[in-house]
Amino acid sequence: MRDVSLWGALLGVEKTVIERIEFDEDADVVVAHVRPTSRQRSRCGVCGRRCAGYDLGAGRRTWRALDLGTVRSVLEADAPRVTCREHGVVVAAVPWARHDAGHTYAFDETVAWLATQSSKSTVTQLMRIAWRTVGSIITRVWADVDAQHDRLAGLRRIGIDEISYKRGFKFLMVVVDHDTRRLVWAAPGRTSATVREFFNLLGEERCAQITHVSADGADFIDTIVAQTCPNAVRVADPFHVVKWATDALDEVRRGAWNDAPALARKEPRRGRGRPRSDALPRPGSERARALKGAQGCPVLVVEEPGGAPRGAITQAG
Ligand SMILES: [Zn+2]
Repeated sequence: MRDVSLWGALLGVEKTVIERIEFDEDADVVVAHVRPTSRQRSRCGVCGRRCAGYDLGAGRRTWRALDLGTVRSVLEADAPRVTCREHGVVVAAVPWARHDAGHTYAFDETVAWLATQSSKSTVTQLMRIAWRTVGSIITRVWADVDAQHDRLAGLRRIGIDEISYKRGFKFLMVVVDHDTRRLVWAAPGRTSATVREFFNLLGEERCAQITHVSADGADFIDTIVAQTCPNAVRVADPFHVVKWATDALDEVRRGAWNDAPALARKEPRRGRGRPRSDALPRPGSERARALKGAQGCPVLVVEEPGGAPRGAITQAG
C-alpha cells in the first residue's frame, strides 16, 4: 500500500488528495495537508452542485480527524468560497466533512455511535470534546440519517409514552415501534398537541396501517388514536398495568396495616402462658402480628410471550 493511500485509510478520508503530513511536536498533533480531488473541487457546500469560484474565503482551516492511536490529528486545507445559483456565496464543499462542521465524517460517525453505546463522560473524555459538541455532532449525523431513511415507514404496532427529565420538570413524548423495538419519534411536551404532531407527521395513509397502539391511561391519547387511526386497537402497556396492580395492592396492604392494631385492641387480652383450648380466636392480633415487618407488595413480573421479563416493579411500603 502506498503511503498516500495508507494515510487516507488512517485518516478515514476519501476523494481527497493528501499533499503532505507533518507532526507538530509542540501541539502534539499530526497535521495532514489535504485538498479535494479535482472532481470534488468547486462544489456548493449546501447542495454539492458544481459552481463558479468566488474567492479564497478565510484562508486555511482545520478539521479534527480521528486520533491516530493516542495522538490527535487534524486535516488542514484551503476553504474557498463559491457562487451557487441557489445558495449564493457559500464555502465550497469538502469530501471529508459535512458543510459547516469542524470534524471529519469519520470523527462524527464515531462520536454519534459512542453516544448511543456509552456514558457521557466516556464520549467526552475518549474523544476529547465538550458535551455540547457531542450534541451538535449527533444533530448533523441524525439529519443525514433522517434524509436517507424514513423512520415512520411500515409502522404497525406502536407505543406512546412520556418520560421526564430535569428532575421531573420537563417532559418528552416518545413513540416506539414494538416490532423493531426502536424509538421512532420524540418531541418535547406531553400534551395532546404533542401527540397530534406525531400523527400529523405520520399522515393519513400510514395512520390507517397502524393496528395496535399501546399507551398509559391518558384519555387524550385514546381520543386522538380513535380519530386518526381507524384500524388501531388501543391497548394498555404492560408497564402501566403492573404499576396499577401494584399500587392497588399497596393501598389494600396499607389499609390492612392501619386497621389491624385497632382490631387487636378491641379483642380481650390474654394472660401469660399457653392459651386455653377453649380460648376465643383473636383474628385482629394475628393479622397485626403477620403484618409486622412486612415491607411491601410482592414483586410482579410480566412475561412477554417467549421473551424476557418486560417489567418488574416493587413498591416499598
Ligand atoms: Zn447550492
